[in-house]
Amino acid sequence: MSIAQVVKDIKGRLDGKVAIITGAGSGIGFESAILFAREGAIVVAADIDFQAAEAVVERIKEKYPLHVRKHTLACKVDVSIEEEVKKLVGDTLKEFGKLDIMFNNAGIMLPEDGDALSTDEAVWDATLNTNLKGVWFGCKYAIEAFRRKPNNAGGVIINTASFVGLMGSATPQLAYTASKGAVIAMSRELAVTHARENIRINTLCPGPIRTPLLMNYLDTEEKKNRRLVHLPIGRFGEPVEQAQAALFLASDDASYITGTEFKVDGGLTAAYVTPE
Ligand code: NAD
Repeated sequence: MSIAQVVKDIKGRLDGKVAIITGAGSGIGFESAILFAREGAIVVAADIDFQAAEAVVERIKEKYPLHVRKHTLACKVDVSIEEEVKKLVGDTLKEFGKLDIMFNNAGIMLPEDGDALSTDEAVWDATLNTNLKGVWFGCKYAIEAFRRKPNNAGGVIINTASFVGLMGSATPQLAYTASKGAVIAMSRELAVTHARENIRINTLCPGPIRTPLLMNYLDTEEKKNRRLVHLPIGRFGEPVEQAQAALFLASDDASYITGTEFKVDGGLTAAYVTPE
């Protein structure tokens, strides 16, 4: 067998799967869109920032061959608005005929988010609307789409939570933490409810990652070092390291994994750390 034949026969881990990724315009979502496309997925890159979603599609078109280029779509969506999420899934079904993977990844962390006394109700509502209600809407319309597939084919949902959904943060961001804890609880219950429909649902729980969401907030060396002391691995994570974990959860390699909190956190949640 020639090398060319061998290469041709190598299958991507998501060959022919249709995947929606929300928050695809930046950070974890951006890297996931590139990686999922590399592995053969048809990617719908969705973001509230349409230009950012288009940029990831352009990047995929630059990097990968024609068949991948034809099968990539940028969509504008605000995940906190139910009609927009419904339309996103509807447009995906119209364009590509099915949905196999829903990566509910879009999220915000507002600088005004603080402790119980300092957090305004408006900050609470905005955070919960995007981080929790947006994930619920994504799950709702994905499950509806999965149910339309023949032979109980099901699908995969990955919801991005955070390590702060599992442990309290000493630098308070109460609305964000509450939203991520709720994403974990909701995803666990959904996983149990829909397991017999061949639908797998897991949360991705990143540690602190070098993306605009966190780095805009940790804007001094002092703030960065306050976090680094808690990280056994000694550095912030890279977005592509989350994308690799999302790829695993999305693929058939994870066929017996549902209802988990998949921690990709450099050992953070395993550590008992005391300042030097
Ligand atoms: P990011 O800010 O780099 O990217 C988030 C993307 O989501 C942006 O492109 C933004 O435009 C989009 N977005 C925001 N609100 C939206 C909405 N209402 N509808 C659609 N799109 C919207 O952030 P990131 O670090 O890549 O974060 C991705 C996910 O990972 C988030 O859910 C975040 O809470 C979570 N997370 C991040 C970290 C970290 O350290 N960066 C840690 C734990 C969890």
